[in-house]
Amino acid sequence: MLHSILNRDFGDEQKDEDSITLELCSRVANLLGKEKAVFLPSGTMCNEIAINIHTNPGDEIICESSSHIINFETGGPAAISSVMIHAINGKNGIFEAEQLSAAIRKPSRYAPISSLVCVEQTSNMAGGTIWELDKLNAVAIEAKKYNLNTHMDGARLLNACVKTGVNAETYSKNFDSVWLDFSKGLGAPVGAVLAGSEEFINKSWRIKQRLGGAMRQSGVLAAMCLYALDNNISRLSNDHEVASFLESEIEKLETVEQILPVETNIVIFDLSDETISAPKLVQKMEEQGFRIGAFGERRIRIVTHLDVDMDSATKLVAALKIYL
Ligand SMILES: *Cc1c(COP(=O)(O)O)cnc(C)c1O
Repeated sequence: MLHSILNRDFGDEQKDEDSITLELCSRVANLLGKEKAVFLPSGTMCNEIAINIHTNPGDEIICESSSHIINFETGGPAAISSVMIHAINGKNGIFEAEQLSAAIRKPSRYAPISSLVCVEQTSNMAGGTIWELDKLNAVAIEAKKYNLNTHMDGARLLNACVKTGVNAETYSKNFDSVWLDFSKGLGAPVGAVLAGSEEFINKSWRIKQRLGGAMRQSGVLAAMCLYALDNNISRLSNDHEVASFLESEIEKLETVEQILPVETNIVIFDLSDETISAPKLVQKMEEQGFRIGAFGERRIRIVTHLDVDMDSATKLVAALKIYL
């Protein structure tokens, strides 16, 4: 990946003069079946730009309660776009079209206007679960019935594609905007690409500039993202295999109260009250060279990626067994 940036010509991205960034955007637009795409420093910026364009101040957007937009973007929708959020409690991050229609505000002189629905493919904090195509389409069709815009946080969309064999364009078809993160499972150091209609992307450029996301020789980053597109997609199945192995071992542990169904590369489980706390377990693992995450006192999250192989997963299980 590092070699992919050597001996290349770079230009000014914000003037559309960086050919490598342009190539990346056109490849991703194509992959997602959209007219155009824009390179951004992060997935968070993709979400926040999309929300800004799809809404007006005072509107309400609809997201699942565990979503990244609600929990990890520092209140960005309120701060940047002056919108409210209606949270739907889904099952493992997935909600039904009926839940969406119940959440959409009826036209009223008093209520905020529902203008956007967001979905996460795959769900992050709900355990990497995959939106089935039928459910995704039903939600998008319901949204369009009420003139809502549709946005897909596709940070791990390609994990879903590799797992199910459904292509990215098919998953994204009924969504006005969708993006991929290159700094997650795809293994690039920096970057995300947001795609949509030509009009949407032209508007995105203004918000990108406003938020300080316009870059110069971004080809240094884009070259590595292109490398990831060429080399790191099909190998996501290894991450799924390692996660599935972890699931099968962790669910056997007596002090594990529940484990969320593992569908892709995220393993989430809760520790029973009789055992060590989650932050303490994380600290103990860190001392032995394993990085896992704690969410609250009892919940642990483990993510597999291209630097984690079956051997390290086996060692992690052995280390966990000392405490659980
Ligand atoms: C990581 C992540 C983001 C944010 O992406 P960054 O590139 O870290 O800003 C957004 N949504 C989901 C589901 C994520 O997992």
